[in-house]
Amino acid sequence: MKCSCCHEEYCETLTLIDFFSSFRGRCFRCQQLFRPIKNRQCCLGCGRETSEKICKDCQQWQAQLGFLIGNRALFHYDDGFAQWIEDYKYKGDYRLKSAFAREIHYQLKQVKQTIICPLPISPERFESRGFNQVSGCLAAAKIDYQELLLRPTNDLPQANKKRLARLKLPQPFVMRVSSEKIKNKKIILIDDVYTTGRTLYHGAELLLKNGAKSVTSFTFAR
Ligand SMILES: [Zn+2]
Ligand SMILES: [Zn+2]
Repeated sequence: MKCSCCHEEYCETLTLIDFFSSFRGRCFRCQQLFRPIKNRQCCLGCGRETSEKICKDCQQWQAQLGFLIGNRALFHYDDGFAQWIEDYKYKGDYRLKSAFAREIHYQLKQVKQTIICPLPISPERFESRGFNQVSGCLAAAKIDYQELLLRPTNDLPQANKKRLARLKLPQPFVMRVSSEKIKNKKIILIDDVYTTGRTLYHGAELLLKNGAKSVTSFTFAR
């Protein structure tokens, strides 16, 4: 079998799920790269694993904006995940888009009557990277999505900014579709990593302002 992440051949006893799945699994080494978040023990706002019902950061979002985005995340953002992001997003190894296609597929195929919308990247970033890292993963996971938002101008990568500076960033998105298209629709925004939540909340605010019924989010890591 070929690993969905490093694409090396590896031997493993197939489970029934592997046998019927159209998605490849990961070799032992790549399996160790990603630590799943236990969904029963996570914050209702951001999806981080915690014993608190709503973490301090999310209590602030709730106070500031009057709602919680209800993020769910697959994996802990740790060294292993950071390595994947580095190789896939920053070094541009597009094959890594399939690394956890199976997990994304099973998570999002349960979502019904909801528009799945990846967060957009700016045209400059698209030009230099050659792909939207989130849409790439959704396509690998065979999940249909719609691009509802545009990010017209570029900005410094969030990773280079201090938390406080990130929280003060202005709205980076504009609508790509007419308000009619999202009126009374449920939307789930997808991003690679939930860091402060600022970008996702910006997306949610804009969509809600334009008539969406509800906006939640799903990220590959938290
Ligand atoms: Zn591997
Ligand atoms: Zn939280």
